[in-house]
Amino acid sequence: MTDTQSSQSTPLADELDPERILTEQFHRARTHLSEVPPGLVDYLRLPRRTINVSVPVQMDDGHIRHFEGYRVLHSRMFGPGKGGIRYHPAVSPGEVKVLAALMSWKCALLHLPFGGAKGGVACDPKELSEGELRRITRRFISELGDNIGPYTDVPAPDVYTDAQTMAWIYDTYDQLHPGENNLPVVTGKPRELGGSAGRTEATSRGCVYTAERLIALGGVPGLDSLQGARVVIQGFGNVGRIAARLFQEMGAHIRAVSDSGGAILAENGDTLDLDRVEAHKADHGSVVGVPGSRTITNDDLLALECDILVPAALGGQIHSGNATRVAARLVVEGANRPITPEADDVLAARGIVVLPDILANAGGVTVSYYEWVQNIEHHSWSLEEVNNRLRTRMFDATDRVVARWRGFPQDCAEQGLCGDLRTAALVEALDRLAKATLQRGIWP
Ligand code: GLU
Repeated sequence: MTDTQSSQSTPLADELDPERILTEQFHRARTHLSEVPPGLVDYLRLPRRTINVSVPVQMDDGHIRHFEGYRVLHSRMFGPGKGGIRYHPAVSPGEVKVLAALMSWKCALLHLPFGGAKGGVACDPKELSEGELRRITRRFISELGDNIGPYTDVPAPDVYTDAQTMAWIYDTYDQLHPGENNLPVVTGKPRELGGSAGRTEATSRGCVYTAERLIALGGVPGLDSLQGARVVIQGFGNVGRIAARLFQEMGAHIRAVSDSGGAILAENGDTLDLDRVEAHKADHGSVVGVPGSRTITNDDLLALECDILVPAALGGQIHSGNATRVAARLVVEGANRPITPEADDVLAARGIVVLPDILANAGGVTVSYYEWVQNIEHHSWSLEEVNNRLRTRMFDATDRVVARWRGFPQDCAEQGLCGDLRTAALVEALDRLAKATLQRGIWP
């Protein structure tokens, strides 16, 4: 795994700095929005509030440990803050701030009635028991207190958190606010506790829908269908595992996958048997060693020749040190911020199209929105209804981003403008946020 927190100041460590990356991406978009006042642009970039909490927990063996927890509310422009909570050793205030901003752009882009937020606890869930994770979650949520709420800031799953974590979040909040309909305080809950049909697969499904639409719009040179496409997936967690299944259902071949234990390539060069991969991971804790596969390095995985590469692990995975080796036609960002701006430039120069995170992985927060609506209305929609709505919304957002992209001046480079899909998606989101801010006016 790439250490995005490295304190040494090597060129790569600087390149991977989350706040620098966000500022650069933001700058690339704002140059297309020359009519937006500079002060307003800064306001749109910076978070509204950052909360740091101390999370003391009694471990199973009786000793007391302390963890750092964060919740950043970036914006409430269109509604409550919305965004996941991650448990990972690399969680830092800087990264959570950046991820919260991405949630604001994502919700604005998908026309969801939310702002952006993000949270996390710096811990290693692989070394924690279920009881310890539950106590961390409960203490973290009670420390956040009324800084989260159904109409103020609504958490959801993210890296190494899942429906069980969301059930603990709901229960903790509900203990503190008895007698109210607290179901909409958190999304991604188990089905029995108001979770929506289709939420677990939603992020992956969104990756497939946006890729399908972009290809149908002729946005990926040399690729006209998912049928027969060769797909490589980095990460076999919440997003990568299900994306592999869904791409395969669409007729694609899954050539290789990876997790934090390593990467595997289908031995016959064709497609992995995903039942076997899942069974092996369940038994051995990693995809490495599945019969019928060959172990390769993470760097080799990113360099495999394929039609679609799906980075679905952590941020900063494709950078100037390895972007020249990427041999895909399309990169679909299942993870948040897996590609640095420098790598974006390398990929663009090589004709590789990138479907950016705020569009590609927005299926998760979109179905989170459906869950929130169902909870408020005390309704439960069928899986078919959820997926149909998701498909329509992902197609519509892809259409708008592609229209922006095609509307960019032909001579973007000569004008010093960035003309990639990420910039188009950001321009689309920021334009909407800027208009809404001016319509509301700056308080007081
Ligand atoms: N963690 C997911 C994301 O980064 C989902 C957020 C949500 O559902 O609120 O988009």
